[in-house]
Amino acid sequence: MKRLEGKTALITGAARGIGLAFAKAYIAEGARVAIADIDFQRAQQSASDLGEAAIAVKVDVTDQESIDRAVTETVSAFGKIDILINNAAIFTAAPIVEIERADYQRVFDINVSGTLFTMQAVARHMIDRGGGGKIINMASQAGRRGEPLVAVYCASKAAIISLTQSAALNLIDHGINVNAIAPGVVDGEHWDGVDAFFAKYENKAPGQKKREVGESVPFGRMGTAEDLTGMAVFLASDEANYILAQTYNVDGGQWMS
Ligand code: NAD
Repeated sequence: MKRLEGKTALITGAARGIGLAFAKAYIAEGARVAIADIDFQRAQQSASDLGEAAIAVKVDVTDQESIDRAVTETVSAFGKIDILINNAAIFTAAPIVEIERADYQRVFDINVSGTLFTMQAVARHMIDRGGGGKIINMASQAGRRGEPLVAVYCASKAAIISLTQSAALNLIDHGINVNAIAPGVVDGEHWDGVDAFFAKYENKAPGQKKREVGESVPFGRMGTAEDLTGMAVFLASDEANYILAQTYNVDGGQWMS
């Protein structure tokens, strides 16, 4: 028996990277998945690669109308949403004295407000349906502690851990389990961008920071998106019905909590 048979999921930021790996894993476990992304062209390509169990949905998680439309489109395609993964996020880095208000605002709009108001829109649907649900928010090891050049992104991910706790305590009354996953360093296009920030601020050669962080992981290498899928499937399945308000580290041993 597949673990997500008959379930439907909305995954934000799923056109590529970790969200796309989650979509593949969910489909392999019998779910249907809405690949929701601001990069609609790539979402369409990814959905078509995944086949009939996937649809592409355009969403900008900073725009309430866009969130509401994505929820409506997913419900009209699949009839319901059982699982939401709030995965869309952006990274930024700068020394404290160089942080720009507009950059801070953009990161918080996407990473924090985007997660909160997508969670709200989907929770309203789940409550109206009365069938419960599972919500997974993407935190990070960055949310567990500060970093000298990463104040804004770290704070945004700390906010995700906190929002997950409060939302979980509120929504469990409706049979909705809210949890989070905190990855460590995961190879992919996202980390190519992170590497470029460190090349700029720490005067490193391109690729050097990536090599260094990979070597510092106790497991011995950076993570892959596929390293995270086991936790994402588990938290969306009935096996996790008694689990809420937790943030799970899936990071090769980087952080202990
Ligand atoms: P990624 O940059 O590869 O993918 C993010 C996706 O979000 C992209 O497809 C992008 O188009 C989309 N997106 C950006 N802004 C959006 C918006 N306003 N509305 C809708 N979609 C938008 O990132 P990833 O590496 O796959 O990371 C996925 C999640 O995991 C993120 O929450 C990230 O913070 C978290 N995370 C990643 C790492 C890592 O090392 N890669 C580590 C810890 C946590």
